[in-house]
Amino acid sequence: MAKDPVCGMTVNEEMAKWKSEYEGNTYYFCNERCKTAFDKSPQRFVK
Ligand SMILES: [Zn+2]
Repeated sequence: MAKDPVCGMTVNEEMAKWKSEYEGNTYYFCNERCKTAFDKSPQRFVK
């Protein structure tokens, strides 16, 4: 399981419809809104 970096929800990578790559890592999201927020400013959500 992966963690949605925006809202903190647990996301099943195999089922995830929304994902983004950032600095060589893949991030998974529970919905399009979280992905959009992440894509806008990924540095806010990545430690
Ligand atoms: Zn989310």
